Order: sequence, then C-alpha cells, then structure tokens
Amino acid sequence: MANRPFVAEWPSEGIPASTGCGEILRRNQVMTTAAKLLWVAFALCWGVIRFRYAHRAKRNRQIEEQDRTYESVLLTLSFIGYLAVPVLYLGTSWLSFADYSLQPVLFGAGIVASAASLWLFWRSHADLGRNFSIKLVIREQHALVTTGVYRVIRHPMYASALLWSFGQALLLPNWATALAGLFGFCILYCGRVRREETLMLKTFGPSYEEYMMRTKRLVPHIY
Ligand code: SAH
Repeated sequence: MANRPFVAEWPSEGIPASTGCGEILRRNQVMTTAAKLLWVAFALCWGVIRFRYAHRAKRNRQIEEQDRTYESVLLTLSFIGYLAVPVLYLGTSWLSFADYSLQPVLFGAGIVASAASLWLFWRSHADLGRNFSIKLVIREQHALVTTGVYRVIRHPMYASALLWSFGQALLLPNWATALAGLFGFCILYCGRVRREETLMLKTFGPSYEEYMMRTKRLVPHIY
C-alpha cells in the first residue's frame, strides 16, 4: 500500500465502502492511522518523562564525564533511528517503498510493547532519580541504585529502549522504520553498556561487583 503523508490517509476516499474489499481496505487505513497517532502520543510521553527527569538531575552536579564526543555520536545515531526516520516516514512518502499492510495482531502487540516500554522508561528514571544522565557521567552525590526496577535488572532504561524498538516496528508498518528503531537500540546498547559497567565498577567497586553477581543486564534471570 502506498504511503502518503500522514494527514492524507483518513478516511479512504474513492474506495466504495459497500464492496468487501473496499471495506477491508478502509478498516486497514483507519487502523494504520490509529497506530501512527498512538506512536506519536507515546513518543510525546517519552519526551515529557525524559525532559522532566533530565532537568531534575541537573541539580546534582557532574564531576566526571566520559568520552564526550564518542557519546554524542552514539546518541545522534540512536536519535536518527528512534526519531528522525519515524518522523520522515510519518511526514513524507520517501519511505513508502518499504510499506506493508498492518495486521490487527501486530497493532495489538505494538500497543502492549510501547506501553510496557513507556512504563519501564518512567520507572527507571524515577528510581535512578538525580543519578540519571543522558551521557556517561558521574555526579557529585552519585549513589548506586539497586532498588525498584534496578533490583531486577541492571539496565532497565536500555530494556525499555529495546521494547520501544519492538513497539516502533509493530506500530509503524514500514520495514525501513522498523530496522531504524532496532539500529537505534543496537548502537546505543553495544556502544555503551560495557563502558558504563566499567565506570560503575571503578566508582562503586565491590558494591557494583556484588550487584552484577545477582542481576542480569536486560531480561530478569536470562540475560
Ligand atoms: N544503564 C542504566 C542507566 C542509564 S542512564 C539503565 O539502562 O537503566 C546512564 C547513567 O546512569 C550513567 O551515566 C551512569 O552513571 C548511571 N547509572 C547506571 N547504572 C546506575 C546505577 N545502578 N546506580 C546509579 N547510577 C547508575
């Protein structure tokens, strides 16, 4: 199905609703538009959570920042996968070559994955509190957090990013957009996690070592 700019898809003009095929097409267009609107609503919530907690954490001064340029490159590439490509998909027809038809089961799974991602994103920000930072940073009064969602896994925020990639892939029926989200996660996770754990070990020593022994990175008891 050709993907036209977002606003032009509702409702399906020119398709006779009386025919079975036309009705199915019309329903599919309505579901696709609902999925796109939901993705936008979830993304806005994501932005509000991030802004709120990043702003609060600023009160706890940074005393060490690692690999500033490298971190900026990682975050920019991840941002392209998570935001720039979806916006391009929603606002233009440039990516329409990669469109496919959204199925109800994908739509439902996409809502569940995105809602779960948003919940975990919120909880991990709330639990990390003033120790949070977008880049790899140690703050003046940095405390090791091992409670809340951090009791179960070491990287709940990255787990929420992975769930977000699944939600993006399921809600926006376009292969390029789906791959971009997965790329955004891989870049962030692979480029960051070992360096972050090394920094945590250097800062918190045996406490972080012991924390590592009893927790997994992303999936409780598995990985
Ligand atoms: N990797 C974590 C946190 C991401 S935010 C997650 O996925 O939830 C990145 C910042 O959080 C890093 O700069 C690091 O200083 C800090 N951080 C990571 N784990 C932490 C922990 N358990 N306690 C306190 N700060 C932590």
